[in-house]
Amino acid sequence: MSGTLLVTGASRGIGAAVARLGAARGYAVCVNYAASAEAAEAVAGEIRESGGTALAVQADVAQEDEVERLFATLDADLPPLSGLVNNAGLAGLVNRLEDAPAETIRHVMDLNVLGSIWCARAAIRRMARRHGGSGGAIVNISSGAATLGSPGEYVWYAASKGAVDSLTIGLARENAAEGIRINAVAPGFVNTGIHAASGMPDRLEKIAPTMPIGRAAEPEEIAEAVLWLLSDAASYTTGTVLRVAGGR
Ligand code: NAP
Repeated sequence: MSGTLLVTGASRGIGAAVARLGAARGYAVCVNYAASAEAAEAVAGEIRESGGTALAVQADVAQEDEVERLFATLDADLPPLSGLVNNAGLAGLVNRLEDAPAETIRHVMDLNVLGSIWCARAAIRRMARRHGGSGGAIVNISSGAATLGSPGEYVWYAASKGAVDSLTIGLARENAAEGIRINAVAPGFVNTGIHAASGMPDRLEKIAPTMPIGRAAEPEEIAEAVLWLLSDAASYTTGTVLRVAGGR
């Protein structure tokens, strides 16, 4: 593949795996992060050491102005954008809805929903034929939670991912004639730091045996699905949510 792939939240977890695989498939990669500069620089450095092109760029993608700055940096320093993976996301500390602080719920909605919207809008302004672009692909990272609802854990997170699914369907139809395919990947349960960050450090050990497939996914297994959706091999696939959830 050619052009630049922007992966939001690529300092670790699924985003880092997508960035690495994207570089291996020939993209110049923009490794976005919010706070973990050292980790993001390590991902970008690893890609460059393997002969690829990568640039780590700090931006809180929940903030519209920071997204604009992120894309301006990309315009200036990397080849034209051809792919976006809206990966940055969080769930917030586990709770029942009636006990959850408004701040947690707002933060999750701002990042998972508005962050994806700001980035998709900026990407479409660059990739759409009507704006002089030459097309591209967007993959939004949803979650199996969108259809499971996450009762007793983080219902607001599940709702945010339901919004990501709707965004995927609408944007795909709005931009199909613009040369942009837009899809989502809905992982089920992945071995990353998000579970400990949500206050459940033992979630992986607890839930893995309940998965039909008997284990959590590794981030690289999610990255394969994302890279397929970005690639020309998925040329007729748009507006779909691909569940990569071990049967759940
Ligand atoms: P993770 O390991 O917690 O990594 C989150 C990444 O997002 C980090 O690189 C973090 O970077 C970045 N980030 C956080 N806030 C940001 C912001 N405001 N702006 C830019 N980047 C930000 O998470 P993960 O498990 O890989 O999850 C990635 C995506 O997959 C999320 O959308 C998540 O909802 C989804 N997902 C995960 C699972 C799972 O089981 N892990 C299942 C279904 C869906 P900094 O440290 O620099 O903030």
